[in-house]
Amino acid sequence: MNIILLGPPGAGKGTQAKKLIELLAIPQISTGDMLRAAVAEKTPLGLEAKAFMEAGKLVPDGVVIGLVKERLAKPDCAPGFMLDGFPRTVGQAESLDAMLDSMSLTIDHVVLLEVDDEELVLRITGRRTCGACGAIYHLKYSPPPQPDTCSCGKKELVQRADDNEQTVRQRLATYHEQTAPLISYYEKRSLVRSVAGGGMGPNEVFELVKQKIGR
Ligand code: AMP
Repeated sequence: MNIILLGPPGAGKGTQAKKLIELLAIPQISTGDMLRAAVAEKTPLGLEAKAFMEAGKLVPDGVVIGLVKERLAKPDCAPGFMLDGFPRTVGQAESLDAMLDSMSLTIDHVVLLEVDDEELVLRITGRRTCGACGAIYHLKYSPPPQPDTCSCGKKELVQRADDNEQTVRQRLATYHEQTAPLISYYEKRSLVRSVAGGGMGPNEVFELVKQKIGR
């Protein structure tokens, strides 16, 4: 099964992706995670991406398309894959179509997670991620079992550099301007499975997601 997870920042793409890859036994391809790893390693690509990410802007299409192309060619994607945070522009979606065509693959579902902007701001500014295992928490809505400690035991809960309110508002503006047009792009092919995730916890949202993809 080949899936795209679409939705604004903070809608729960990363959290739902983690649940779905377990259910479907397919890899999660998160361009945000790949870019953050490149920034942390200070690779030339990471150095190029850093300023865009910190400003809440999109990294140029050419950079992310190259990353995804390389990743999709890896053998673990053969049974299927979950794209999380890609495509984010119509240009990226067109490149993805060309990539998939050349591999004789198609997308089965575009899962769209919808949440209001003000709820997104609250969710993102309270978000903390475990630097050791990648688990995602919210200080108020989904706190770690012990303060400042992940369930994996590590005291490495960190706030992403771009999860402050000013950058979040810019990321939301970028989403509405450049990424939301993808909804009609995929609606034309009847691929969009919308889930209204506002006011709900991750497990409730996951139940709806499963229904929408027939699992
Ligand atoms: P995310 O973790 O998906 O919220 O992505 C964090 C940041 O990485 C975004 O705000 C962008 O700056 C950059 N990014 C991630 N995915 C893409 C993409 N597909 N196209 C352009 N920039 C991206």
